[in-house]
Amino acid sequence: MKIGIIGGGIIGLSAAYYLTKAGHKVTIIDKGNLKQGCSFGNAGMIVPSHFIPLAAPGMISKGIRWMFNSESPFYVRPRLSSELLRWGYLFYKSANKEKVSKSIPALKELSLLSKAHYREWANDLPFDFGFHERGLMMLYQTEETEHEEAETAHLANQYGIEAKILNPDEVQALEPDVKVKVRGGVYFPGDAHLTPQVLMNNLIKHLMTEGVELVDNTEVTGFEVNQDSVELVKTTKGNFEFDHLVLATGSWSGMVGKALQLDLPMQAGKGYSFTLDAVEKNIRIPSIFVEARVAVTPMGNTLRFGGTMEISGINHDINMNRLNGIVDSIPRYYPDMNVHLPKKENVWHGLRPCTPDGLPYIGRSTKLSNLTVSTGHAMMGLSLGPASGKIVSQLVQNEKTSMDISAFSPSRFSS
Ligand SMILES: Cc1cc2nc3c(=O)[nH]c(=O)nc-3n(C[C@H](O)[C@H](O)[C@H](O)COP(=O)(O)OP(=O)(O)OC[C@H]3O[C@@H](n4cnc5c(N)ncnc54)[C@H](O)[C@@H]3O)c2cc1C
Repeated sequence: MKIGIIGGGIIGLSAAYYLTKAGHKVTIIDKGNLKQGCSFGNAGMIVPSHFIPLAAPGMISKGIRWMFNSESPFYVRPRLSSELLRWGYLFYKSANKEKVSKSIPALKELSLLSKAHYREWANDLPFDFGFHERGLMMLYQTEETEHEEAETAHLANQYGIEAKILNPDEVQALEPDVKVKVRGGVYFPGDAHLTPQVLMNNLIKHLMTEGVELVDNTEVTGFEVNQDSVELVKTTKGNFEFDHLVLATGSWSGMVGKALQLDLPMQAGKGYSFTLDAVEKNIRIPSIFVEARVAVTPMGNTLRFGGTMEISGINHDINMNRLNGIVDSIPRYYPDMNVHLPKKENVWHGLRPCTPDGLPYIGRSTKLSNLTVSTGHAMMGLSLGPASGKIVSQLVQNEKTSMDISAFSPSRFSS
């Protein structure tokens, strides 16, 4: 088949990888240059440990507390937007124990499947993308967080995700080169990490050598849709015809989806990162400063700090106050690490595609027979990319999917 994929982030590329392997002719259309999107500068963590979706009990009260602090890690910019109001209402309806305990098994399975595919990629792909299976540490400093993290660790073990509660000495033993100041940590040995921009750049090159056509700097502006299929994709550089279309447009999926009769509530969750080069004494295990919501990942001899979640619409403003919040947190956890506020031009930002219930949208359209959706992976798009790509290829080919994907139905919020 001739397959068009709109969106060349990790989700679109992963779908292209499996569809090309299955023998299809794939074209990826992206409005950008495929060098700067959300999939490039993220924290590179592969996180089966993150089996609880973002819309969880407690998030709303935390979010409200954080909203009044300009350096806080979470922020919703109040706007008169019916889409934001609806998204907020659906988030509120999803953030309860019953919904979350239904979501956990699906998210966990997708995550574990994806990590297994990353292992295969590390063996099969002709380039090294810095994939390491050294686990992840959640580092905390307060008693309140200790209780919350211990609860998560117990739940993780119940679901078969190994989690070990560590005292400060045990944390320090895992980080021999960098002093760590914490009350304790939870270690998830099953997590992994990679260098996202190396993966993305090389995957793009690899897909092109495998025959994938890349149409960059080309925005999809509309579609010609007949009763039950997409006939034509309209772009700023002319029209395209495909046998099957895959929508992988990340934070823009709500808008693009509307023209395809899809109801995909979505908000962009902006995050920032910056990377220190040539770090002499680096950490070994990717870690999250839990109270500060900052992710820290060693990538070779570089060290990346990432954080904040700003639900402030689609915009590319960089709020240096929040960068300050990230930088200020570093010596609280790594007291010997002296990090200065990066210059604005050295700050990367990305827009995480956030659904109201914290689960992605993966599935075939119920209205248009030649349309498949894979988007809304929020904080875990890098982690969930390969499994989502594999499932998209199975859906396009009408094959049985690797797992039950009913929890990810793209029509779950449609009335
Ligand atoms: C600070 C930060 C840290 C993160 N850390 C991690 C992490 O450690 N682990 C993890 O798993 N995830 C992490 N994430 C999340 C992860 O980066 C995202 O979930 C993932 O990149 C989303 O991929 P995507 O392909 O869906 O979207 P994108 O990468 O945004 O790709 C979507 C593409 O669609 C294109 N597009 C949109 N509309 C159109 C149109 N009309 N026409 C043509 N093209 C269009 C866009 O140009 C874009 O390139 C992090 C995110 C941030 C911001």
